[in-house]
Amino acid sequence: MRAHVDQELCIGCGLCTSVAPDVFAMNADGKAEAVADTTDANGESVEQAIEGCPVRAISQISKTQTGEQP
Ligand code: SF4
Repeated sequence: MRAHVDQELCIGCGLCTSVAPDVFAMNADGKAEAVADTTDANGESVEQAIEGCPVRAISQISKTQTGEQP
């Protein structure tokens, strides 16, 4: 799985980067983006980021949808 941040929706609050710092990072536009895959180790914190995002900008895409190998 790979998290995805909708750049139009993200308000750059930084919540996801503090909840799941190994997956989310702020980019040059001041928006969050996913910089790593969701794994068993960080899956719970990614879920917390998804639930906690005030504008619901985070979604998750399974690798089969992106065409990448799992
Ligand atoms: S929690 Fe949501 S709005 Fe806040 S930085 Fe992350 S994606 Fe953007």
